[in-house]
Amino acid sequence: MKFALVNNQRQEATPKTKGTCPVCNSPVIAKCGTIKAHHWAHETKQNCKNDRWETEGQWHRNWKNQFPQEWQEQIVIVNNEKNVADIKTPQGLVIEFQHSHITPEEQKARETAYKYMLWVVDGTRLKYDFPRFQKRVKENKYEFLKIRDTIKLFSIDFYDEVFPKNWLNSSVPIVFDFLGEENEEQANIFQKYLYFLLPRDKVKPDDFSAFLFYIPRKDFIPLIKNEWELFYPKLLSSITEIQKAKKMYYKYYKDLRKRVVTNRIFIKCRNRRRF
Ligand SMILES: [Zn+2]
Repeated sequence: MKFALVNNQRQEATPKTKGTCPVCNSPVIAKCGTIKAHHWAHETKQNCKNDRWETEGQWHRNWKNQFPQEWQEQIVIVNNEKNVADIKTPQGLVIEFQHSHITPEEQKARETAYKYMLWVVDGTRLKYDFPRFQKRVKENKYEFLKIRDTIKLFSIDFYDEVFPKNWLNSSVPIVFDFLGEENEEQANIFQKYLYFLLPRDKVKPDDFSAFLFYIPRKDFIPLIKNEWELFYPKLLSSITEIQKAKKMYYKYYKDLRKRVVTNRIFIKCRNRRRF
């Protein structure tokens, strides 16, 4: 963990300090070596939800550190149980950063617990995920809506072959980061953006497609900090409206076509009768 309580104040680890874990209240000690980032560890092994730091890699920490300290490692109480959210904004949005594999049960449990949340997923964990994503996006994406100059919404076919399987049926947005721990200066054009896969139960595309939008990496933090609570519901309702309009258009087009065809047959028959 990055923060522990020292005299009831949230504090980062400094050499030779002792504190208490804000989740299980057991004693923790400062680990201030030269290799790993400074952190707190339980003095004796505990079965505690706040024990993630030891397994958190650089990618995870880099992401967390881009947000204000008071938003990091926030205790969220769900059903009388303390959970530690990677980030919780003052508006109540929880962001969880996920590098390693997570079981579907654990994923569902966190989505149910936090409700208003999004995941940021390291898309470089498995070797083939990023090349597959690039190839599929080139072949199967259709621009649906230009939200802003820098934000574009796409529908993508065969979505189940585009994204890692375990993230397909989430009820909250999944943000894919395909840069991983690489330096942004070496990023290719795809890696310069973050990709939001929108939950299919909220936008209801057809059986084979999914909606996603992408934004430049540098726009992510301002979007979350300043406008996510308005932006996200507005986006969902725009998609629903466009889908409705599209359906109506197709119905109108189909009816029109039927009339034209009937007319043509009528004219054909009429002309034949003349002979
Ligand atoms: Zn603990």
